[in-house]
Amino acid sequence: MTTELSPGNDVGPGGATGSAPAGLLAQARDDYRDLAARGLALDLTRGKPAPGQLDLAEDLLSLPGGRHTAADGTDVRNYGGLQGLAELREIFAPLLQVPAGQLLAAGNSSLELMHDCLVHALLGVLPGAESRWVEQERIAFLCPVPGYDRHFALCERFGIDMIPVPMTDAGPDMDEVERLVAEDPAVKGIWCVPKYSNPNGVCYSDETVARLAAMETAAPDFRIFWDNAYAVHHLTDRQAEIADLLGACEAAGNADRVFVFGSTSKITAAGAGVAFFGSSPANLRWLLAHNAKRSIGPDKVNQLRHVMFLRDTDGVRAHMERQRAQLQPKFEAVARILEARLGGTGLASWTSPEGGYFVTLQVPDGCAREVVSRAAGAGIVLTPAGATHPYGKDPRDAVIRIAPSYPGQAELEQAIEGLTVCVRLVGYEQRAATATA
Ligand code: PLP
Repeated sequence: MTTELSPGNDVGPGGATGSAPAGLLAQARDDYRDLAARGLALDLTRGKPAPGQLDLAEDLLSLPGGRHTAADGTDVRNYGGLQGLAELREIFAPLLQVPAGQLLAAGNSSLELMHDCLVHALLGVLPGAESRWVEQERIAFLCPVPGYDRHFALCERFGIDMIPVPMTDAGPDMDEVERLVAEDPAVKGIWCVPKYSNPNGVCYSDETVARLAAMETAAPDFRIFWDNAYAVHHLTDRQAEIADLLGACEAAGNADRVFVFGSTSKITAAGAGVAFFGSSPANLRWLLAHNAKRSIGPDKVNQLRHVMFLRDTDGVRAHMERQRAQLQPKFEAVARILEARLGGTGLASWTSPEGGYFVTLQVPDGCAREVVSRAAGAGIVLTPAGATHPYGKDPRDAVIRIAPSYPGQAELEQAIEGLTVCVRLVGYEQRAATATA
């Protein structure tokens, strides 16, 4: 298990319980007044690398120097090479668990590749599909929650219905997933962030991977969007390994079931990295055929500079150790402050991720929006409550996503301290209101 609710701090499903001694509420109000008076301007919204993390790849910017020839003699400055440089694909193949020959290296954004796969599935016929998705009355995707808001935004953009599925410590609730995909041919896909998931840091268990690979789906063209965005983003010595879904799908006779995505956005440069797509030979041919219409080839100069900078697969791992040295203290500070300020209050529980970019804070039901709003009132901007759920609606209004990476250490600590004041204020106000109701 890679994520835990902090012991002794679980928030019951009914939300904050017990009465709030008046002193606690009065203290929280005083603390909030002091907080608001400080005129802070702090931002915990998005999981962006901090400038210091980007500096780790500064040398990338002066590469490839005078070199412009790939290993096979290709002039990287020219058109062509739709699948991307083979030597870069070799480096990332073991990390993304896709054979290099089945991997595509593209532009800088894996989200863009996910977008394109949806568009091509809507407008073109997927391997195994009877027709284009756009011709079908209804298309739906399973959305494990809490999840990544940009996945949900893609579904909204294309009119794809979203069906929330609860996350467990081992991945999505597989009983529910198996039931939904078996009974409804309109269910064409599922979003998965299998390692150090966004936002709750869960790593999918081997059993979850095996069940995803083997389950019966009513749709013959069902696809798992396996967004392995945090494949090498460890925060501790315990480096999580997940089972190979592509191999498992092949072994189960469902070779075309999975689209693997990944990128170097949080390895080298979030705005100037390389994104990857991996899949079965048939799916890869399908995507390449569509890509050939939209581009005459990817930015191979950037791919070559990544090869020269990272060198090999161990080079990626070594670089991620340097990333970890910057990120780990931030995550430790979040855990320490949450424990010191909210531990034992019964007002919050939180994840302790072993990788990835986020901490999930759970507050009493009905409080998340108000906490985010009070924090904004004190100059601390958080991801909107509800963003972790389809259509921006968290039915319990209880989940807050914390992104500790971008602010400096001191700013981050101030922001988390401030956030805990808001949680106490809103939580004790709710208790007081419940007690007098
Ligand atoms: N997938 C997940 C789960 C993410 O958390 C993010 C960024 O936060 C992305 C994809 C974006 O990836 P890229 O920069 O490759 O488009």
